Amino acid sequence: MTAECFNRFSRYKSPRHRGKNNRMHYKNIDQSAEGSSQANNSEMTMEFYNRPSRGRPPGLKGKSIGLYYRDKMIKNNRYKPKSRIKIRPSTLNMIQKLILHPKCTEKKSYNYKLQNSINEDYGKQYNHILDPKFKRKFLSLISGNLQHKIEQDLTTKPLLERRESVDINLLNELNDKRLTSEYKKLLDFRKKLPAYQNKQSILDLINANQIVLISGETGCGKTTQVAQLILDYEIECGRGSTTCIACTQPRRISAISVAERVAVERVENLGNSVGYHIRLEKILARPYGSIVFCTTGMLLQFMQIDAALRNYSHIILDEIHERSIHSDIIITLLKFILPKRSDLKLILMSATLNSDQFSKYYNDCPSMHISGFTFPVEEFYLEDILKITHFKFPKEGKVGTWQKYLKKNINKEMELINHKALIESYYTYSNFINLYSVDLWEELLNPKSEDISFDLILDLTKHICLTQKPGAVLIFLPGLIDITGLHKLFLESDNFPQDICVFYALHSKMPTAEQKEIFDIPPPGIRKIIISTVLAETSITIEDVVYVIDCGKQKLSKFDIKNNLQTLDIEWISKANALQRRGRAGRVQPGICYHLYTKARAETLDQYPLPEILRIRLEEIILQIKILQIGKVDTFLATMLDAPDPKTISVSLQLLRQLKALDDQENLTPLGYHLAHLPLDPRTGKIIILAAMFSCIDPIFSIVASLSFKDPFYCPLGKEIDAIKKKIELGLNQFSDHIAICEALKRFEEIGYKGMKRSLCQEYFLSWNTMKLLSDMKKQFASYLYEMNFLRNNNPKDHVANRNSKNKSLIKSIICAGFYPNIAIVEKISGSNIKAYTVEKETVYLHPSSINHYAHNFPTPYLTYFLKRKSSKIYLFDTTCVSPIALIFAAPSMFIVKGQEGDLITIPNDITFICNEGAHLIEILHKKLDDILEFKINNPDVIAWGTYEGNILTAMIELLSDSDKDFELPEHRILPRYK
Ligand code: ADP
Ligand code: MG
Repeated sequence: MTAECFNRFSRYKSPRHRGKNNRMHYKNIDQSAEGSSQANNSEMTMEFYNRPSRGRPPGLKGKSIGLYYRDKMIKNNRYKPKSRIKIRPSTLNMIQKLILHPKCTEKKSYNYKLQNSINEDYGKQYNHILDPKFKRKFLSLISGNLQHKIEQDLTTKPLLERRESVDINLLNELNDKRLTSEYKKLLDFRKKLPAYQNKQSILDLINANQIVLISGETGCGKTTQVAQLILDYEIECGRGSTTCIACTQPRRISAISVAERVAVERVENLGNSVGYHIRLEKILARPYGSIVFCTTGMLLQFMQIDAALRNYSHIILDEIHERSIHSDIIITLLKFILPKRSDLKLILMSATLNSDQFSKYYNDCPSMHISGFTFPVEEFYLEDILKITHFKFPKEGKVGTWQKYLKKNINKEMELINHKALIESYYTYSNFINLYSVDLWEELLNPKSEDISFDLILDLTKHICLTQKPGAVLIFLPGLIDITGLHKLFLESDNFPQDICVFYALHSKMPTAEQKEIFDIPPPGIRKIIISTVLAETSITIEDVVYVIDCGKQKLSKFDIKNNLQTLDIEWISKANALQRRGRAGRVQPGICYHLYTKARAETLDQYPLPEILRIRLEEIILQIKILQIGKVDTFLATMLDAPDPKTISVSLQLLRQLKALDDQENLTPLGYHLAHLPLDPRTGKIIILAAMFSCIDPIFSIVASLSFKDPFYCPLGKEIDAIKKKIELGLNQFSDHIAICEALKRFEEIGYKGMKRSLCQEYFLSWNTMKLLSDMKKQFASYLYEMNFLRNNNPKDHVANRNSKNKSLIKSIICAGFYPNIAIVEKISGSNIKAYTVEKETVYLHPSSINHYAHNFPTPYLTYFLKRKSSKIYLFDTTCVSPIALIFAAPSMFIVKGQEGDLITIPNDITFICNEGAHLIEILHKKLDDILEFKINNPDVIAWGTYEGNILTAMIELLSDSDKDFELPEHRILPRYK
């Protein structure tokens, strides 16, 4: 299967109404960009193209002219760039010697090929796997199934075994503890929590049922109390030795903080009756008489080894209303497990009311609701806010103008008709003017009234500051652009002088969340104003918030199946989100929540956010469930709470087949087996295996860690340009965001002292927490690859595994091979934008957070990328400029034809290069390299560098280094196009 039939995209028209806010943001960078780019303003067109001649059919106007030429170019096959590959004679010579050296000719046959799995005889079908140990593990995995595995696990001896002496000890320990004054003091606090007050009914419900559902408002004590109530009760009943409770949390940070809190309440240190286990970090509790707080993903991993969950007596799934993909999958898997483990109890916990869906899924399991504890919060909607502030939307209200506006934008028209209908469905005119006024009715019907208006937010905040009691103001906005925009307006306004207002921004790309001040209560007379994304909805709690301004919108990442494209659009929040936002105002005293949308809108919001499983691509999850041996993926996914679209499943299966991770029968291949064992997206998983083979693990691990977890670069308020300049510096003129990450981590890890590490982070706008975690993740990758036998030891800094780590051409080429067919070709650099097109011929732009967005020119027009996402435009977020040779080796196939100008090398998607000398050598090398890599996947081992296989890899590295010589030319420097 070639890349051609995959990823067919249609061109995307950017909706005007969404573009507005984005344009504002980019102006900040771009305005400054314009200054220095004056000299460069001549639209630079890449010389790689054969431009179409004039002479279009008459009558074409505007956009259709462009489309005409595009179609013509595609038809005539003239859209193809033809870069020239020139290899130095000395390099050619060396490669020839390496491949043909008599001492190093091929001794064993590397070109075993995977047969199609047409028969069920696994042994025969996989006879190209020579390594007996690997073969055994592999065959046992692909031939097993979950039911069988659970039954098998149940026949072994359980870890939780009744021991009377332990039961007595645990009970004594608990009773002793209950006598201490510290425990008593904390118990007094706990007794005030609604969850604790419902102790008996909670325990009765759990005793009487295998599966129960508990819901209750945030802060009522579900997370901290329920697990403790169960544990203490079991210990009191003399069953401590057979009790171990796993309680899942949606986020790493909450698993740790909850565990810490519960340990405090039990007057213990972590590691006794309370522990936590998240990826890369754990403090384990004793194996019995204990509670472990873990992330949902971690529990899924435990299930790979312990399919029947025999190490646990109780599973508590917390915050299931968030509908993370892991929690949804565990809910499905437990349906298989629970009937076979009648002694296992399942407690589902959710913050909001609608427990029906979960309860129904488990055959109407019983549920209970714990009523709230938070302070009352008064709510105002847009109509009330307009009344309070006397705010008026900008006057564009003449009917004629609106009609013109509507004509231009058909989608908007639909939205606006809906807007009017919505309001009229909620209020009758006469009722409304009785409650409010005629003017206000007009204002509300203004089609823009529910768009986010910074001016309205400013007026409302001013109203709070002038008329309301002390207390912090928390403003929810969708994204970074809005936060920076609003913050700027606040600073520019005279109404919010710095001596009485202090501003904070909360966004995952900003350092504020790591700073302590945001949690501090400001001195009297000073008003704290926090502008945040959804981050402040659940993840971060700022206790002194009394006023919440809720814009009602959030950025939501989705997978658009029709266009096979990840999107990030601004959408209405759900009722559950709104409730959560409201609750933030009543943490310490009664509060007020201002919703910047109408009461009518509030009624129409969805009950709950869209579950993650319906929003993302499924490759990684498919591999994970394959390892659990659940058989056909679509059958399993169809039994989920919300089954994903079959089209999404088939797109993901197709990619996995294309990556050769699954065979035609949907069985894991040996490569798939390795990839499924890595906690990574299959593409990045493939990259780290390649890195091990090519002995350059350290830099590649840095890149993959960041791609799979988080970009460590910050974007502090008002310092965006300084930050990008520093990132460009780390890019080392390699035209690569990925190299910048390698370099950042390299410098971070080279420094021994914590203080100096911190100042490095400060200087380069890096997140300290993220950097530390990325560094730890690299160690984990090394351990995985060592277990799989691709590395000699588990040290990511091992010198043998890093013999080629300094070779940037190789690093870029490996990334390209992993990302393939994510290739874009730069078409035009003009003004402040760089336009490129992907191999599917769709127009894309480089995102301003990429260092390549600021390049004047590129050594080659080819970019490889990991994340492409549509917001106001289709953006490539992270790119690396690669040489033609890197592209050829990344491609699954190549062929040569004789052309007038020399040999033409073509790879899939019609990318063609001219190569005067050495084309056939490249072809031989391509083939041999493929055979060696496939052999190694089927027979995991390190590369023997002095032998035939090592020589082939060396030849490729030589060729790559030679092809990267253009990067060293003086004109190829990333000079920021701004000063
Ligand atoms: P729920 O899970 O129902 O939202 P929690 O069990 O997390 O509630 O919290 C119950 C109460 O315990 C909170 O309202 C808060 O007062 C208190 N609490 C929770 N975590 C901490 C902590 N780390 N430090 C101090 N108090 C805490
Ligand atoms: Mg909770």
